[in-house]
Amino acid sequence: MVTLKVEEEIMPDIIHLLPDSVANQIAAGEVIQRPASAVKELLENAVDAGADDIKLVIKNAGKTLIQVIDNGCGMSETDARMSFERHATSKIKDAADLFAIHTLGFRGEALASIAAIAQVELKTRRIEDETGTCIQVESTKVTNQEVCACTAGTSIAIKNLFYNIPARRKFLKSDTTELRHIIDEFQRVALVRPEIRFSFFNDTRPLYDLPVSNLKQRIVSLFGSTYNNRLIPLELQSDIVNISGFIGKPEFARKTRGEQFFFANGRYIRHAYLNHAVDAAFKELIPNDAFPTYFIYFSINPDEIDINIHPTKTEINFQNNQVVYAMLSSAIKQTLGKFNITPTLDFDAEQSHEIPVFSKDQPVIKPEIKVNPGYNPFESSDRFQKEQLNFKTRSESDKSWEPLYQTDPLSGPRPPESNQQRTMDQSEDPSDDQSDIGFTLGKNFIVTKVKSGLMVIHMQRAMERILFEEFLASLKSGKGISQQTLFPVTLQFTPQETAIIKELQTDLRYLGFDMEDFGENSFILNGTPSGLNNNDMKDVLDNIIENYKQQSAGAAVQKTVNLAKTMAVNMAGRHAYRMEPEEVNALIDRLFATKAPEISPDGKAVVRIIGLNEIEDKF
Ligand code: ADP
Ligand code: MG
Repeated sequence: MVTLKVEEEIMPDIIHLLPDSVANQIAAGEVIQRPASAVKELLENAVDAGADDIKLVIKNAGKTLIQVIDNGCGMSETDARMSFERHATSKIKDAADLFAIHTLGFRGEALASIAAIAQVELKTRRIEDETGTCIQVESTKVTNQEVCACTAGTSIAIKNLFYNIPARRKFLKSDTTELRHIIDEFQRVALVRPEIRFSFFNDTRPLYDLPVSNLKQRIVSLFGSTYNNRLIPLELQSDIVNISGFIGKPEFARKTRGEQFFFANGRYIRHAYLNHAVDAAFKELIPNDAFPTYFIYFSINPDEIDINIHPTKTEINFQNNQVVYAMLSSAIKQTLGKFNITPTLDFDAEQSHEIPVFSKDQPVIKPEIKVNPGYNPFESSDRFQKEQLNFKTRSESDKSWEPLYQTDPLSGPRPPESNQQRTMDQSEDPSDDQSDIGFTLGKNFIVTKVKSGLMVIHMQRAMERILFEEFLASLKSGKGISQQTLFPVTLQFTPQETAIIKELQTDLRYLGFDMEDFGENSFILNGTPSGLNNNDMKDVLDNIIENYKQQSAGAAVQKTVNLAKTMAVNMAGRHAYRMEPEEVNALIDRLFATKAPEISPDGKAVVRIIGLNEIEDKF
């Protein structure tokens, strides 16, 4: 007895319930990660309320204000108060309803979460009521509720998100990044409901005004008039799933990487497996590094979908993934066939001996460079460093041209797996021998003599390699070369593009784009990267933006490397190759001064050698 009593004194019960405000804050973290999550919840509530006109207003990328005004059903006085309670929802009543959800929300968590981490003001009136209700909530507590005059519908303003959780507030990204996330969410909702008018004001400036329209017009109002002739309709009806929407014509996949959207039963979803179906269907039609554009809507019996999704997760699962995959694949192929889109001849696809493209999963191995101790830098006029590099011996049976050696396209050569190695001696580097002049062959190639035979250089890829390293150096050193434009040009962008440009402004300057914010999503260009003419400028910028958008959504490959690559590939493609003999040699010189002359930043072969023995074989 005595011992027991002592124990009780030393170790009292320690579990207790958290106060509501704390519990709500914790739960809120699940639902509201950033301003964009709150925007999504409010827009979805407005849609669920049956509104046909929804206005979004934000300030400081949603950090100080997010307001959504709708003309939907509104709420009664009691409901207005109730709406901030956790698990308070008008959308489902019991478990059975979970299997027939037709609204975007149903958990009753969003408003409770938001109220825990912000100052909220709600004004709402049902059409049948004479007066409305105005409620102020702060840290889960109603601080004020009164009768007010207001229009029918609901206006909800969220002020100072995370004001009571400094750690979370600090965690927020720059305004441009947060704005970009908000735009993403806005687009996802707007793309589901073209029959609703949406407007979006950012710091009092209108970003979007999307009139009531059909789906195609909605896509065009969101992404620009260029989409007008880029889209082909997709349609497939079946017992299991109906598929509709639009896919982008393959020829546009090359230039811009495009927008990719899946929706299931009116809700934006991500689905890697189905994305693969689209990619596969487009495979022969677009270059390897391009992405198809698509806006694809699945309509499926709700009990075929796993609805118990995490509130913020956009991943969902179809019960019958494989069937949906097959349907989607055939729908796309049929559509492409119907619109008479057949594979175009692609120089790259023809080559079966490409060097494997750099994969981010692959460990990056430090290039192994053997220094030739006998090399005397004063022996030749060449100003560039000479490296002795290893490469694989061609197999006897293989008569085709082979890459010189396996390399990592971005950083340089990798040690070969094979032990049978030859060493590329100095004279294999054509820039060594100044007396030998290279010459152009056709539009695309330079041919020059090397010790072991003929070296053929792919001009554009050579240029890509050279420019890639130059741009990379500019980005790293912050010293870009820009040529001032005689007559500054004004360029217009979409709000989303503008957000990206602002995010990249410093890098763009290093690349040579001297851009000045002119407001209203326009910029004045005072300088451009040298070698780029005015006509191509917008195109190149568009490509950079599209590329960046894709990159930041997907793999976190180094930003600078990516930018340099995009610029290099773009600029090289536009380069006018007036090739005087000296210029041919200069290009060879520049190429062999790079870290990995034999491979383009995309991992394609720049250089191939036709061996002397191969030539002898021909006789
Ligand atoms: P859920 O949407 O999951 O039901 P919320 O916390 O987002 O949960 O909203 C709680 C409830 O508040 C909703 O079920 C709805 O009845 C009401 N509500 C929220 N926003 C609006 C709105 N804009 N118009 C009318 N009612 C709303
Ligand atoms: Mg909701």
